[in-house]
Amino acid sequence: MALITVMVPCYNEEQALPFFYKEICLVASQMCEGRQPRELEFELIFVDDGSTDNTLAVIKEYAAEDKRVRFISFSRNFGKEAAIYAGLLESRGDYVALMDADLQDPPSLLPDMYNIITNSSNNIDCVATRRVTRKGEPVIRSFFARMFYRMINKISKTEIVDGARDFRLMSGRMVDAILHVTEYNRFSKGIFSWVGFNTEWLEYENISRVAGQTKWSFWKLFVYSIDGVLAFSTVPLAIASFIGLSCCLIAFLFIIFVIIRAAVWGDPVAGWPSTICIILLLGGIQLLGIGILGQYLAKAYLETKRRPVYIVRETEQD
Ligand code: UDP
Ligand code: MG
Repeated sequence: MALITVMVPCYNEEQALPFFYKEICLVASQMCEGRQPRELEFELIFVDDGSTDNTLAVIKEYAAEDKRVRFISFSRNFGKEAAIYAGLLESRGDYVALMDADLQDPPSLLPDMYNIITNSSNNIDCVATRRVTRKGEPVIRSFFARMFYRMINKISKTEIVDGARDFRLMSGRMVDAILHVTEYNRFSKGIFSWVGFNTEWLEYENISRVAGQTKWSFWKLFVYSIDGVLAFSTVPLAIASFIGLSCCLIAFLFIIFVIIRAAVWGDPVAGWPSTICIILLLGGIQLLGIGILGQYLAKAYLETKRRPVYIVRETEQD
C-alpha cells in the first residue's frame, strides 16, 4: 500500500479551491481505478496561510465530508515558503506532491509523475515540473525572471532551474532531507536542488490561473529574488571586496601620479570638481559595500533569533 500526500498552500483561494478540489478528486479516483482497494491512498493537506477571505471555511467544509482532507491554518500570513514547510512537516505519505491551488500546476500530470517515481529503474526520488513558456505573463516580468535565473546560476553552486515550478512529487526520503534543512530564510527552489537526489523534469506550457488573483506583485517577486541570492550565494560579498580592492589599486596609482606631478610641475590648486566626483563615487561604493554586508548580517540576525517558521492557529484535529 502507498500513501500519496497532496499538499496545497492556500492564501485567499476561496474562488480557486472548488475547481482544484474537484480536479484533484477526479485525478485521485482515476489513479486508484484498476488497482486493488487500499493499494493507493490519498491524503490532502491544505495549508491556509492566514487567508482573509473564506478559504478556511471552504477547506473545513471539505474536511467535514472527506476524511482524506486535513488542514493547517496559520495565525497570520507567513508566506508560501512557510506554508510549504508546514505541509511537508505534517505529511505522512510515502510520496508527497506539492501544488498550487489555482490549477496552474495541473493535477492531471500526477499519474505520470507517480509512474515515473515508482517504476523507474534509475532511482528517481523527485519528479519536478518546469514551464517552457511564460505565455500570459507580463513581458517585463518574464524578462526579469530570465535575468534572475541566469544571474543566480552564475553566482551560486546550487542549480536553480529556469521556469521550475514548485509543483513536484517527492519520495519520503527526499522530504525528510528537506525537513532537515531547518533554516529560517527558506528559498525552496534552492533547497529542493541543494538536497540532491535524482530529479526527472516534466515540461509543460504555462497555464493561467483558474480563478482569483496572483499573490505576487512585481515588488514581492523582486524581494523574493534577493532572498534567493542571499540564501544561496555569497558572491555579492566577494564582488564588494573586489570593487574595494580595485578602488585601492586605482587610488594608489593616482597618488603616485599626483606626487610626481607636484614634484615636477609644482602644485597648482585646481580640480575641485574632480575631487568632489571622486569623493561621491567612493562614498557610494562604500555605502553599497556596507549595504551588501548589511543584507547578509540581517539574514544572519533573523536566523539566530530562531523564531518558528510559522504559527498554527487551528488544524483538523481541533
Ligand atoms: N500562496 C501562499 N502564501 C502567500 C502567497 C501565495 O500560500 O503568501 C500560495 C497561493 O495560494 C497559491 C500558491 O502559493 O496556491 C502560488 O501563488 P500564486 O498563484 O499567487 O503565484 P503565481 O502562480 O502567480 O506565481
Ligand atoms: Mg499561480
